[in-house]
Amino acid sequence: MAKKDYCTQNNGDCSTCSLVNYGMDCRNVPLTTAPPKATTKLDRAMATYVGFKGDVTVRAVLAQIPQELQDSLTAKQLGMVMSAVNQAYHNGRASTGAEVVDGDAVWIDSLKQLIPLEDIYKITEHICLRCGHHWHPDSATHPTICPKCKSPYWDKPRKTNV
Ligand SMILES: [Zn+2]
Repeated sequence: MAKKDYCTQNNGDCSTCSLVNYGMDCRNVPLTTAPPKATTKLDRAMATYVGFKGDVTVRAVLAQIPQELQDSLTAKQLGMVMSAVNQAYHNGRASTGAEVVDGDAVWIDSLKQLIPLEDIYKITEHICLRCGHHWHPDSATHPTICPKCKSPYWDKPRKTNV
């Protein structure tokens, strides 16, 4: 790990520095290069998950995996589902061990399970065509209004020649 410019302790080795607390260094910067030991199921799943590990992405992907399924899967399987769902969503095709079936579900090869496409819509980032606001939904239901400008026509382009 590169020594940080502001480091005055321990020769830049945050992993053993006494100023590190809850994964934050002496300036409260998260220690992203030295992940904590995987202790929870989610941590272990993350170790398997090969999608973009941004916080929003992970929460969005996790949000669309039913709790029941999360509970029934091993951490490794959960990681595979997260990867497959994320990649299937981004690629829209079967290149990564996941395949959209009949237009309404995604088949995950590694799990031999179908995940409803409706759930996958939860990881879609919605963009309001009226005000340009974009947001991540917290449920699979199609938003009725834009949370910012409240337009019910957020998903419909403005008519240009009325
Ligand atoms: Zn809007």
